[in-house]
Amino acid sequence: MATDENCIFCKIIAGKIPSRKFIETDKAYAFLDIGPTAPGHSLIIPKYHAAKFHELPDETLSDILPVAKKIALATGATDYNLLQNNGRIAHQVVGHVHFHVIPKPNEEQGLVVGWPSTSPSKEELDEL
Ligand code: 5GP
Ligand code: ZN
Repeated sequence: MATDENCIFCKIIAGKIPSRKFIETDKAYAFLDIGPTAPGHSLIIPKYHAAKFHELPDETLSDILPVAKKIALATGATDYNLLQNNGRIAHQVVGHVHFHVIPKPNEEQGLVVGWPSTSPSKEELDEL
């Protein structure tokens, strides 16, 4: 299993840094976010250390979404977001893949999304 001794989330998995754990499987670990944007804001991380989503083995990925579903159900939230950031400019702060489950109880709490949509031509869309 890939680990990085300097990684804060690897340290959480190893129990070297305390966390409020919900669920642990062979390949995934879920715990409460220390800086929640809404009550119940949680993180699911692979036990395999990788910085970005596309670097994870498929068998690790297949363990994560069922855990995310359990966490989403456990929050009791009717509205919520799943968020997974890759790279600094895409708002990733911790360099170990993590999926956020973020309840959206009202307009003020939870995730706020900026979505600068554009209007490409039919030709530009075909080209893409
Ligand atoms: P990112 O911006 O990288 O997608 O999100 C990183 C998340 O990790 C943030 O929501 C932050 O609050 C959380 N976080 C950072 N360090 C710790 C920690 O030591 N413990 C816990 N539980 N969460 C952390
Ligand atoms: Zn790590």
